[in-house]
Amino acid sequence: MARIWNFYAGPATLPLAALVRARDELVEWAGTGMSVMETSHRSKEYEEVHRGAMSLIKELLGLGDEHEVLFVQGGASLQFAMLPMNFVPPGGSADYVITGSWAKKALDEAKLIAAGRVAATAGPDFTRVPSRAEIEVDPNAAYLHVTSNNTIKGTQFHHFPDPGNVPLVADMSSDFLWRPFDAGRFDLIYAGAQKNVGPAGVTIVVIRKSWLERANTAIPSMLAYRTHADNDSLYNTPPSFSIYMVRNVLQWLKELGGLSAMEQRNRAKGDLLYAAIDGRPDFYRCPVEVASRSYMNVVFRLPTEQLEAKFVADAEARGLVGLKGHRSVGGCRASIYNAMEPAGVEALVGFMEEFARSQG
Ligand code: PMP
Repeated sequence: MARIWNFYAGPATLPLAALVRARDELVEWAGTGMSVMETSHRSKEYEEVHRGAMSLIKELLGLGDEHEVLFVQGGASLQFAMLPMNFVPPGGSADYVITGSWAKKALDEAKLIAAGRVAATAGPDFTRVPSRAEIEVDPNAAYLHVTSNNTIKGTQFHHFPDPGNVPLVADMSSDFLWRPFDAGRFDLIYAGAQKNVGPAGVTIVVIRKSWLERANTAIPSMLAYRTHADNDSLYNTPPSFSIYMVRNVLQWLKELGGLSAMEQRNRAKGDLLYAAIDGRPDFYRCPVEVASRSYMNVVFRLPTEQLEAKFVADAEARGLVGLKGHRSVGGCRASIYNAMEPAGVEALVGFMEEFARSQG
């Protein structure tokens, strides 16, 4: 088998154990004589997968009955619209912390539906996230929205804002379950699965039940959180294979020791990579302020764009794939989500040292 080291930002590398399990079960699964893709979403075998994935999310986050897990489609991008549709009352407004283009998209989408306000911004370069003191929350806001990890600029909140009585919402698409955190403080968390927890096709929503009760229901059924909650996310046909893969990934994460073990592993990987960048300041440069650096998406520049292109191409020839920065910003980016093995980062760091020596 020739698996390469995959540093794509999403869809992204998945744990080998989760893929191997899917391969082994692809044709005949759970004694049904068919694949999970082929079975009814109302079958008891599928239901076990569906509920298993939901309860693993709650278990890993340490959440009890006050929160509910939903599986929806439309990506994190649809959440940008569902959130204000469900939670901004007529005449109301929502607050957004702007840390880059995903946060901007979330705000722009909200503005198509209701009033949206910038509570803080880290612009124009987005090389850091705002501190708690910089975030001015409107006490009447319907919620405060933050993007916990900026996938493109490589910044991450290491301390979440405290909006007091204003509900707290986070887009955790690119760092969901990367470490333990107080999920109980959030009224709603959403994450497209395709970076840290599975393949594309399903978006995970974790919502506080008491807040859900206040959601608007006078909107099309598929856009109402209540529809999905009232039907255990089986209102219509769910993306069953994606949810099955999420279950496999979460099982792997649990067996590895859960979120504390994952944090240790992620910090070791990130520290190793940042040390390699900072250790060659003549050649590599990370534009992100140290306190805001992401442990999921590590961005860095080389002395010239030509060298960056050569770096990406030479790395690929060595089995290190997906290191080109986002097309909107250029440079290089190594996405080292939960599933990236420490050995992958070690291989990258070895290559970086060699490349700097030969080209620097
Ligand atoms: N939010 C963040 C932080 C993202 O990184 C992305 C995708 N890269 C999105 C939202 C959009 O996600 P989707 O493609 O699932 O709509």
